[in-house]
Amino acid sequence: MIETGTRVKLVNHPLAQQTLTRLRDLQTPSHEFRRLAARLSKFLVYEAMADLKTREVGVETPVGPGKGVALTDYIILAPVLRAGLVLAEAAQDLFPNVRIYHVGLKRDEETLEAKSYYAKLPESLPPDCRVYVLDPMLATGGSAVAAISLFDKLDVKTIDLVSFVAAPEGIKRVHEEFPNVAITTASVDDHLNEHGYIVPGLGDAGDRIFGT
Ligand code: URA
Repeated sequence: MIETGTRVKLVNHPLAQQTLTRLRDLQTPSHEFRRLAARLSKFLVYEAMADLKTREVGVETPVGPGKGVALTDYIILAPVLRAGLVLAEAAQDLFPNVRIYHVGLKRDEETLEAKSYYAKLPESLPPDCRVYVLDPMLATGGSAVAAISLFDKLDVKTIDLVSFVAAPEGIKRVHEEFPNVAITTASVDDHLNEHGYIVPGLGDAGDRIFGT
């Protein structure tokens, strides 16, 4: 992994980059896209969580006592519907006991900002919990900012964002509003086109994952 700064973690591993290339390919069919998206999700979540805290525990191996670690952080995943589901499922495979709060967002036609239509969050969360907002495409940053705000309002101190691909415009917007949010991504792409798609990007992630 290359650190482009503490706030953007670029996952440059060849396996991640090869997977991303196949996701970008317009010839990749939906069933294959889903499989590759799940694979890239695991690589990204793995890197995003590299700084999780652990405590030392004892372990009894077939050969005798040894030392190991247990995770101590209270981890929350916040997939942005619907494309974020693929990241959440992959992360859940890695952490079966993780808590998942889904976030549904739609565009307010007056303000053109993303507004939440579904977010069943508790009234409070442990202030030291770790929240991972999961959204494969960081485009304008509107959805990411709306999702992050939901947890910021609950006084969560450490919020991360995990995306397959990020546009410079989206990174700028997120960091203008939430300078402490670390973004883990496999690519910082070129720009957004006039329709808000990331260029070169990979198209509409939700449509390609769900075959719509
Ligand atoms: N959402 C997508 O699915 N793709 C983009 O390029 C931008 C937003």
